[in-house]
Amino acid sequence: MPEEQIDSTTLIRIMDNILTVMMANEDYLTRLDSEIGDADHGINMVRGFTLVHDRLSTLTDPDVEVILTTVGMALMEGVGGSSGALYGTFFYQGGLSLHGKKGIDKRSLAQLFSSGYAAMQEMSGGTKPGEKTMIDALDPAVKSLNESVSDDRVTLGDALGRAVVAARVGMESTIMLMAMKGRAAYLGEGSIGHQDIGATTSYLILRTMLDTYKGGMGVIVTKYDPNGSILMEENLLKKN
Ligand code: ADP
Ligand code: MG
Repeated sequence: MPEEQIDSTTLIRIMDNILTVMMANEDYLTRLDSEIGDADHGINMVRGFTLVHDRLSTLTDPDVEVILTTVGMALMEGVGGSSGALYGTFFYQGGLSLHGKKGIDKRSLAQLFSSGYAAMQEMSGGTKPGEKTMIDALDPAVKSLNESVSDDRVTLGDALGRAVVAARVGMESTIMLMAMKGRAAYLGEGSIGHQDIGATTSYLILRTMLDTYKGGMGVIVTKYDPNGSILMEENLLKKN
């Protein structure tokens, strides 16, 4: 049986679906960011992934490294705000770590996330878990992916599924945390009781990777608590 992998076509579809997911959730994301931020994150992400879509559509037969480094550069340019530099670095450096690879198997996925995360963390000024940022969602996801690599019974799909669960728990953990980094840190204790927006988009990105790999498109959050916690999400459906 050929080893399961995310090929270039699927990777491009993932990026296009992330744009669809960010657009579908723009109201939710703007609402979240208006509580303890400046309400621009959802709009920034839509702008960034629109540029990603435009850039990817100009490439001819790209390998996964070219796709990911293109994504990284487009996000650095297109997103703006702190998250543009953070997500841009993540995809750019994660992409470089896959040099020469034809597709992303389970091991490569862990490599991509580990390298991207390490570079993002350095760019962030050494943000650690517990400081109420996207790091709180990504750190457990990276750990989960690395654990999946050392367990032969875990398939690529399972590894993605476990990483999504880990990111979701990490995202939810930000609600009760006090922000130590980013704009929300200015609010001090006032930041407690709101889910971090960057942790939320990190969860949605991973979720879209999983859903796309399984043939879906990602989710729209249809019901949420005033603290930002997701109460209900529905699968986005393909337009015919
Ligand atoms: P800005 O605050 O510049 O408007 P965005 O709204 O684009 O940035 O993104 C805000 C998100 O970026 C935060 O919710 C947080 O998850 C993440 N973030 C901001 N600063 C940092 C940092 N120093 N380390 C890690 N993540 C950060
Ligand atoms: Mg902002």
